[in-house]
Amino acid sequence: MSAAVPPFEVHDPEILAQARAVLDACASPQAMQEAVLAAVARNEAWRGQRCINLLAPEAPTSPTVRALLSAEVGTRAAEGHIGALNRWFVGTQYIDEIEALCMELLKKLFKVRYADHRLVASMIGNLTVYTALTDPGDVIMSVPQPFGGHSSNRLDGPAGVRGLKIVDIPFDPLELEVDLDLFRKMAPLVQPKLVTLGVSMTLFPFPIAAMHDIVAEWGGRIFFDGAHQLGLIAGGQFQDPLREGAAVLTGSAGKTFSGPQSGVIVWDDPALTEPLTHAIFPVLVATHQVNRVAALAVSAAELLAFGPVYMAQIVRNAQALGAALTRRGIPVLGSHKGYTTTQQVIADVRQFGGGLAVAQRLARANIIANKNLIPNDRPEDWDRPSGLRMGTIEVTRLGMNETAMETIADFMARILVEQEAPETVGEEVIEFRQPYQTLYYCFDNGLPKK
Ligand SMILES: *Cc1c(COP(=O)(O)O)cnc(C)c1O
Repeated sequence: MSAAVPPFEVHDPEILAQARAVLDACASPQAMQEAVLAAVARNEAWRGQRCINLLAPEAPTSPTVRALLSAEVGTRAAEGHIGALNRWFVGTQYIDEIEALCMELLKKLFKVRYADHRLVASMIGNLTVYTALTDPGDVIMSVPQPFGGHSSNRLDGPAGVRGLKIVDIPFDPLELEVDLDLFRKMAPLVQPKLVTLGVSMTLFPFPIAAMHDIVAEWGGRIFFDGAHQLGLIAGGQFQDPLREGAAVLTGSAGKTFSGPQSGVIVWDDPALTEPLTHAIFPVLVATHQVNRVAALAVSAAELLAFGPVYMAQIVRNAQALGAALTRRGIPVLGSHKGYTTTQQVIADVRQFGGGLAVAQRLARANIIANKNLIPNDRPEDWDRPSGLRMGTIEVTRLGMNETAMETIADFMARILVEQEAPETVGEEVIEFRQPYQTLYYCFDNGLPKK
């Protein structure tokens, strides 16, 4: 008899076993429902009310946006393009209205001729671009992971699935910017059809105009995957990719944009409209969550009103957090150039045990951040990298300012530098967080009180 081989499983088998035990102990399916509801409530009480959330890709939505995510319209199917003739189903006149409002709000916000609201995630947005604007075997250039490059533009994501050959964009590890001189030498050798600027570690702007001029020689295009920077771009607090020469901009609506988790795509060139919209429907998206579309429309309206002040405070808070951590002995990348121009702050936490151990230690103190590869790491170190990535979206939307960033840096330094027990500091974190329970920069609650 051979020993039983456990079935292959990518998920943590212990957690799955625990869930099975919970369900086995339930007297009825209704009790199983209660187990689900209880887990949701536990998350809300902890992450929603007691934690300092510094996850860079996370944003709390306004009460109106959150309420829309359970709207009746979310149960309706409406695949296809806007308009009675273009839909498979009838009865969609109000859905057409919602979708058209969303699309026109996105165009207004980004000052563009074309936008699409149907991407259920930014990953799908990137696959849309690769499907529409490349053919299998084409060469593209994108940013490698240790410099912040995201898997969606690499071999292990949509770009790889499309069968593209991927060449690294050269990056300067000290300046944390594209090495333009090297790019000028390398790009003509491989003549990429697309050059993707898509990073999930994002501190400083890209030389889009110069890169555009280089690749225009052979008809290459710049694709800006602004997943993280989308809200900053909408609020006028980051570079403006389309105006600087990018052909397409995609992004996540659930990061700085502070809307529902969702994708956004905008472009200006009418010649791209047929290939991009065809890739969206019928190729990649059918039913597309009209409740999400309504929520996306409202978050675009919020950014029209509050975007500039909200995004400016996010960046000021990130710069303040970077400076405060540095002063307390936690090294932060980009310190020689003002730390950051986005919502992100990246610390090098090698001396404190590395990104994984540090993130786990902070979580025990109710401070949530994530491990991250930084320039000295190798891509295969992804599970135990040297960096810690933080972001200031949620703390800003809760009304915190630069003074609060000092307090947060204090909590972190006590745990990492002074080696205080996380649980002790964690009690004070909960106390500090307690008065910050209202979400601002929205029509529900306006601006934070000074
Ligand atoms: C987060 C991220 C994505 C994926 O976005 P989702 O909305 O989670 O699908 C794509 N590109 C970059 C650069 C990202 O950081």
